[in-house]
Amino acid sequence: MCGFIGMVDSGLVAARISTGLQTLQHRGQDSCGLFTFDGARFPGHRGLGLVRDVFDEDVVGSLPGGFGIGHVRYPTIGRGVVADAQPFFERRPGVLMAHNGNLTNYERLRERLMERSIHLLSSCDVEPMLCVFAEELMQRRRRNHTSHDVVAALRATYAVVEGAYSAVMVLEVDGEPTMVAFRDPRGIRPGVWGRRGDGFMVASESVALDALGFQQMGDLEPGKAIFFRPGQEPVVHDVETARPSPCVFESIYFSRPDSVEMGETVYERRLELGRRLARRWQRKGYDIDRVIPVPDTSRPAATAFAEEVRKPCREGFIKNRYSGRTFIMGDQESRESALRLKLNLIRSEFDGQRVLVIDDSIVRGTTVRRLLDLIWAQGPKSVHLAIHAPPVLNPCFYGIDMSTEEELAARRYLADGHRGSLSDEELAELEELWAKDLGVDSLTFLSVADLDGVFPKNRCAACFDGDYPLAIPEGQRASIRQDRTCGRLQPVAG
Ligand code: SF4
Repeated sequence: MCGFIGMVDSGLVAARISTGLQTLQHRGQDSCGLFTFDGARFPGHRGLGLVRDVFDEDVVGSLPGGFGIGHVRYPTIGRGVVADAQPFFERRPGVLMAHNGNLTNYERLRERLMERSIHLLSSCDVEPMLCVFAEELMQRRRRNHTSHDVVAALRATYAVVEGAYSAVMVLEVDGEPTMVAFRDPRGIRPGVWGRRGDGFMVASESVALDALGFQQMGDLEPGKAIFFRPGQEPVVHDVETARPSPCVFESIYFSRPDSVEMGETVYERRLELGRRLARRWQRKGYDIDRVIPVPDTSRPAATAFAEEVRKPCREGFIKNRYSGRTFIMGDQESRESALRLKLNLIRSEFDGQRVLVIDDSIVRGTTVRRLLDLIWAQGPKSVHLAIHAPPVLNPCFYGIDMSTEEELAARRYLADGHRGSLSDEELAELEELWAKDLGVDSLTFLSVADLDGVFPKNRCAACFDGDYPLAIPEGQRASIRQDRTCGRLQPVAG
């Protein structure tokens, strides 16, 4: 998972992009990059680590121009190299590109490029997309590219690039520097755009627009490309459309609560998930003394849950805000040690109490076991666990690093091969078996049907219901599975 920003303005943009990237830091802490275009050159800087450590006044001051792209990247095993940091630059015809997403046919793209003697310099999957686009553009015309050429090259790129991507590029079009933002036909990964005076900005999440005083104008539309130039009205071109399928997991777990996606705040969505979870839990007939969120993601859901069941919502965990998010760390060992670093408990909130702890999701199940060990050590009378998402039954192939099928904890409590939505009976059985295994008094998930009304009908919830909006052939699945198992030799998703 990654985050990007693109900006065009009549003044310099590097300092503002670097500030905006800090609002997207939760989307990736491994590396970051920022390149600009001043009409002649494409200077840039990429580095490992957090935005505040990589970009100082001198670096930002060395990046002139009113066009720029910034990017933050999430960590994966063995990929702590600057070569994989975005944005990427292609000399011919002179184009910068960054994306958030995951290309599922990376190997085929790499082979296709090799057949044309084009060698990749990184393991980042935006690089083959950029190479394909640049090649297609150069085939149409060697210089003085028009908007028509760019749209035609994008169509040809969409035809060979498979997966989920929200992307931005900067290049010269119709004789003018231009920023072009585009999103895959299904709009699986998020993207928004906004304006301020003569300037325009695109970003993975709206919080970046807020921080820089840009007014959000809407989402980047799936399958469309928008051309931006300062002081001119943006121009939208159709590239290729399909049934929109935005990722629900963004709102459940990944995005900041103050972000607005598809016209709604992530916060509102999490409140509603909490209410629905409370109603589901109430049917079980237990009583509790307090609701405690696992910080930070589950706070809104816990607040709404507590209101619904008329019990206090209390802070029981104190988070060390300087440690990384465990979900997006690489291997098992680093995940566990990150958790030990990350949370401490307030004993008085648990000791002798009947507590209901709310978390956002259970993926591998290791984090929740460690959490429960910590909770039981505080002497609670009973512990209930409630999750504001359905059980994760399937891996994600579209840019969320969600382990392999075999590692998914929920699968241990289901018959082999069960990938679709669970019936109410199946969900109840899974909850009972899993609660017993975890040693909690009850375990409650949302059902897939609970997502209706919170998210649009057209959505990707494949990790919960197995309905992948973009078919992944078994060969590609096997190759991704093997790559993940072998220490992630697969391309690094943006
Ligand atoms: S499979 Fe899950 S995490 Fe992946 S894009 Fe779909 S909803 Fe999001």
